[in-house]
Amino acid sequence: MITILGAGLSGMSAAHNLKGRYLLLEKEKTVGGLCRSVVVDGHTTDIGGGHILYTNDEYVKKLYARLLGKNMLWHERKSYIFMNNIYVEYPFEVNLYGLPKNIIEECIRGVEERDTGKKRAYKNFHEWINQTFGKGVAKHYMVPYNTKIWRYDLKKMSIDWIADRVPAPKIEDMKKGAEKPVGKKFGGNAYFHYPKKGGIQALADALSNKLNISFDSEAKEIKANKLRVIYERKGERTSLKAERIFSSLPLPELIKIIDDVPGRVERAARKLVYNSIICLALAIERPKVSDKHWIYYPEKDIVFNRIIISSNLSPDMAPKNESSIIVENTYPKDKKIDFEKRKEKLLEDLEKTDIVRKGDKVRVLKMSNSMYAYVVYDLNYRKNVKIIHEFLNEIGIIPIGRFGKWEYLNMDKAILDGKESVEKVKL
Ligand SMILES: Cc1cc2nc3c(=O)[nH]c(=O)nc-3n(C[C@H](O)[C@H](O)[C@H](O)COP(=O)(O)OP(=O)(O)OC[C@H]3O[C@@H](n4cnc5c(N)ncnc54)[C@H](O)[C@@H]3O)c2cc1C
Repeated sequence: MITILGAGLSGMSAAHNLKGRYLLLEKEKTVGGLCRSVVVDGHTTDIGGGHILYTNDEYVKKLYARLLGKNMLWHERKSYIFMNNIYVEYPFEVNLYGLPKNIIEECIRGVEERDTGKKRAYKNFHEWINQTFGKGVAKHYMVPYNTKIWRYDLKKMSIDWIADRVPAPKIEDMKKGAEKPVGKKFGGNAYFHYPKKGGIQALADALSNKLNISFDSEAKEIKANKLRVIYERKGERTSLKAERIFSSLPLPELIKIIDDVPGRVERAARKLVYNSIICLALAIERPKVSDKHWIYYPEKDIVFNRIIISSNLSPDMAPKNESSIIVENTYPKDKKIDFEKRKEKLLEDLEKTDIVRKGDKVRVLKMSNSMYAYVVYDLNYRKNVKIIHEFLNEIGIIPIGRFGKWEYLNMDKAILDGKESVEKVKL
């Protein structure tokens, strides 16, 4: 039997392409992994953070349309950066209008003074930001925001992940956007879809249709030499001989449960860097608290990095006279968090924004924590991932998905990875 570990999007996509010859083990009671939603008090909230649907890939476009059909709303992105007490439309560098004159000048001068000579090999992410966006944009937005979301020293991050994710700004676009609001949309998610009903879980649920999933089944141990998976379900342990294993478990967690791991592989897994995320879902007893979809917060005196106004993704997300938001707060690997205190801090900092007004009644719907949110591309990640992948390959485990491949994969790429990993293996 082929065994798949994890019923997130990548695991389920692999399952579809194995056409019945597998068992899919999921430790939770529901499918979706990071793409899960819950309903609390009439509000639907995405517990792994705000998730929107966009892709350039034709297969995934068709899949989203087939899975969600009429349950899909189309949006033109309204995303902003809140700084200096004003909203700057995203992307920052081409929407400088409204910022203080000295900041605009610094940003434009920075781009004009860029070293546009021969394409250079950047030493790290920090250097890449300064060279690509110029010193002004780096200082006022890119460095503070990225430091906040990654929770890692940008000088110790590589630039592999960014290749086609963030284009360099054109000076003419910057100048136009500094003079007046331009309204021109940039970037892959300028237009996006979102499920009308059910939050992002609707996609995961639709993908799980007809799959053979054993829920509440946590893989606890893998015997490397015989490729046996031992999983626990309702306190009972079952041992399963696996012909192959497709695993979407985070690499550090997968390595921990394999019984016979060489020291160098264990060391490589320990060295991988990632960050975690707290999502605080709130109901605000006022309709339409904002006209935006999401807002980035680069400034230091606010602890969270982003707010998603869920009720603007679909009117079905909240009762009629209320709004719902998700406050996202990443934190570094291994940091011990006092969740009660952090909740208080998030609520306190929310008052520094205009999302909540004096006198608003705010209710906490849910506070969730995902230990694995973003893989962090530290300068040694490539070497460490290679060591781990080679070992897994030798023993018959195929790593898939965001934390198996250890790549910044979005939903579309996680789905494609599950599919393509199956296609690549002779079974
Ligand atoms: C804050 C945030 C916002 C995002 N927003 C977007 C967005 O707007 N658009 C977009 O396209 N992508 C977005 N993404 C990315 C998206 O969440 C991922 O690409 C996708 O969910 C990855 O799916 P996966 O299957 O690879 O991993 P996961 O979702 O992590 O799935 C892994 C599964 O394995 C299960 N599991 C773990 N351990 C065990 C075990 N021992 N035994 C059995 N099962 C186990 C887990 O419960 C889980 O179901 C976002 C990610 C984050 C963190």
